[in-house]
Amino acid sequence: MNKINAIAESFYNEYDFFKEKRITQRRFKHSDMCKILSKFRANKKFKFKKVGKSAQGREIELVTLGTGKTKVFLWSQMHGNESTATMALFDIFNFFEDSNTQKDIKEFLLKNLKLFFIPMVNPDGTELFQRENIYNIDINRDAVALQTPEGKILMDTFKKIKPTFSFNLHDQGIWYSAGYTKNPATISFLAPAFNEEKSLNTVRKNSMKIIVAMYKVLSKYIPNCVARYSDEFEPRAYGDMFQSLGSSTILIESGGRKDDVEKQYIRKMNYISILSGLYLIADKSFREVDLRLYDEIPFNQERLYDIILRNLKFNAKGKSFIGDIGIKIEENNTDKEKNFYFKSEIVGIGDLSTFYGYSEMDLKGFEIFPGKTYKKVFNKVGDINKSDIDKLISKGYTNIIAKDTDKKDFVNFPLNVFSIRNKNKVNNIKINNPADFVIRKKDKIYFVVINGFVIDLKNRNYKNINGVVFH
Ligand SMILES: [Zn+2]
Repeated sequence: MNKINAIAESFYNEYDFFKEKRITQRRFKHSDMCKILSKFRANKKFKFKKVGKSAQGREIELVTLGTGKTKVFLWSQMHGNESTATMALFDIFNFFEDSNTQKDIKEFLLKNLKLFFIPMVNPDGTELFQRENIYNIDINRDAVALQTPEGKILMDTFKKIKPTFSFNLHDQGIWYSAGYTKNPATISFLAPAFNEEKSLNTVRKNSMKIIVAMYKVLSKYIPNCVARYSDEFEPRAYGDMFQSLGSSTILIESGGRKDDVEKQYIRKMNYISILSGLYLIADKSFREVDLRLYDEIPFNQERLYDIILRNLKFNAKGKSFIGDIGIKIEENNTDKEKNFYFKSEIVGIGDLSTFYGYSEMDLKGFEIFPGKTYKKVFNKVGDINKSDIDKLISKGYTNIIAKDTDKKDFVNFPLNVFSIRNKNKVNNIKINNPADFVIRKKDKIYFVVINGFVIDLKNRNYKNINGVVFH
C-alpha cells in the first residue's frame, strides 16, 4: 500500500502539467470534445475506432491505448449532465500522450494493460446537459432492454472487448454526505452487486479490493469525504450487468465539495483515483488488499443542504417557535445549456440537528419574516439601477414588479422579479417555496436572503447571486 500511495502522490504533484486547460467548466459539448481528441489522433500510441452513432447522429468513439494482456474498459458520461470524469479522461489522455514526465509509470501501465475508453457515451444528452438520452430514456436502465443506440453501443463494445476490469464513471448529487456526517461525499465508490443477495465472488471481490486501495489513496487528499454508493442490485444498470458478466466493475461517482461548483478539484480526484486503480491492476498489488476494509467505507447519506440557518425565531399562525431552516440551491440550464442560473428551495423547517449545510449560521436571537415586494412598477427589468437595488435590500425588499419581464427566467442582480400578474404574490416561508426572507433583531434588519443567498447588510457581496423571474 505504501507504494501506491507514493505513486498517487506523484499523480497529485504532476497533475497541473497534464490538465487539459481548454476545459474549465462542466457544460462542454461533443463538438468541444472532438477538438480535444483531435490532437491525440496524430500520436501513434492512440488508436481511434468509430463504434456507432448516437440517436442524433453524433459519433461515439472508442480510444485504445497500451499493449498489455489485461484489458480495462472505462466509459464516462452515460448521463449527459455528469461530465466530471470526462474531464479527467482528457487529463489522462494528456498524461499518456506525453513521453517524458513520469515516464516509467506510464510505460509500465501501457506494457501491462490494454485500455479502452469511451469518453462520452451520451453526447445527445450532453448537448442538453440532461441525464437521459434524446428519447428521455435513462441509458443506465437500458442494459437489459437495449433500446437506446448509445446503450447498445456500450453493450456491443463491452462484449467485443471482454474486459477483465471496468470503470463506470458518473456524477451524483452534491447533497450526499459520507455517512451521517457534515462531510460531503466528494467521491463515492461501489463494487456493484450481481444478484439480489449481494453475493461475493472473485470478480466482485477484486473490484472491492481496488476500491479499498483507491479509498485509502483519496483519504489523504479529501479526508472523510469518500463514501460508498448504495449497493442495491439494479439489473438494468450497466455496472451490475457487467459485474454479472464477469468483469470486475468499479463505479466512481463524483459528488460535491464546498466552493467547487465546476468540480475542478473533484476532476483531479478522479484523475488520481483512476490512474491509481490502473496501477494497482497493472502490478496486481490489489490482490493483497484486505477486503474487510471495504465495509468500513461509510455509505452515502442524504444529509446535506446548501445552507442551514439555525435557531431562528419563526412566527406562524400567531405562535412563535425556535427552529432551523434548510435551503437547497439548484442549477437550471440556460443559454443553450452552456450556462446555468440558480433557483432556491426551502427543504426543511424546524429541528434540523441531524442535517448539515455546506454553509451554516447560528442566528440565535434573530427572527425570520417573508421578504417584501416593492410596489412601484418598473416598465422593464433593466430599469432598476444598482443604488435602487442596494436601497431596496436595506429595507427588506426581496422582489420587484416589472411590466415587461423579457421572457427571461432569471436576472443577474439580487432581487426577484414578479410580472404584473404576480404582483400580489408572497413567497411565504414554507417547504418547497423559494427562499426569500429577511432576518431581523428588534426590528432592525441584519440579513436579507434572496433566492437562497444570504446577504449580510454590514458586509454586502452580491457575487454570483441571481434573482428569479416569476412570470
Ligand atoms: Zn450517472
